[in-house]
Amino acid sequence: MIRATPLTGRLMLCLGLLFLVPALSIQVSDWIGGWHSWDDQQVLNLILTALTVGMSLWLWRRFVRWTLGRAAATAITMLVPLAQVLWWQPMFNVGCITDDILRTGQNLSLIGLWVWVAVWLWWGLDRGWSVLRTRWPLTADGRRMMTPTARSLAAGMGLLPFVVGLWLILCVFLVDVVQLDFAWHSVLICNGVCVVVAVVVWILIWRRRVTWTRRARIGTILSSGLLLHVAVLVPLCDVLCFDSEGEVCVVAIPVVALGLWLMLTAFLWPARVVPVQERIDAGLHCMKCGYSLRGLTSTRCPECGFEPTLEAFCAGWVAEEGL
Ligand SMILES: [Zn+2]
Repeated sequence: MIRATPLTGRLMLCLGLLFLVPALSIQVSDWIGGWHSWDDQQVLNLILTALTVGMSLWLWRRFVRWTLGRAAATAITMLVPLAQVLWWQPMFNVGCITDDILRTGQNLSLIGLWVWVAVWLWWGLDRGWSVLRTRWPLTADGRRMMTPTARSLAAGMGLLPFVVGLWLILCVFLVDVVQLDFAWHSVLICNGVCVVVAVVVWILIWRRRVTWTRRARIGTILSSGLLLHVAVLVPLCDVLCFDSEGEVCVVAIPVVALGLWLMLTAFLWPARVVPVQERIDAGLHCMKCGYSLRGLTSTRCPECGFEPTLEAFCAGWVAEEGL
């Protein structure tokens, strides 16, 4: 029987939540909407936000080294998407149905942003502010370790709500505020901007985990150029749009192209091979305070006095080398 490690198990749960959270939010808001006369969209977004934030905390709480600064910063950032749902105002004034689309867009992009800020706060600040600097603790069997690859995958989960939210905001802005002559042009501009944002964010998330060979660089530039063309130009092409108005293909084709591009990066980007010496140096630190143990003959930390058994020390090292 294959048993997932705690970390891969969490990532599998994340993937499940990506499906479960939106669908459950829609269903629950539908039930609630039947009983009360609340604003349907507001209830839906409130449940969506609470579920995303709550589930993320539940999922990753044991993988975060909770310092006072980190906990406080997490609590403050949680308030931003929640405040938007409770205060439920559009960024600019548009018609009443469009208002709903705009506010949902605002909420979705804030949820995406929150995921990225949380990933950065929890696992990206280990070399930053001194209050947050302490390394995360290792248990004796090396569990509860967050690795850079898992961190990138967790950050990638924020891409979906952010891009969808950005698309809705931009579309409402261009159609109702700028009022371009031809509504289709607005959609094509939204496609282009969202594709560029998705590509840039994906590269930023993975840039340190990839060996940027010539093939990887040229392949990335060419494929993203092609993706941008497909997102903006193909919906204009009548041959591919069998439905009379072309409403489906104007969104579906760019989404398919973006999905293919994300899949392509898995083949295009070779993982960075870390040299042995760098791996040894990275593992040689105090498990409690992070002090370098290079050149020592025992596991005792000269800085804080912590002295793990050899088993605990090696287990932590092995876990760090994992996913
Ligand atoms: Zn120490």
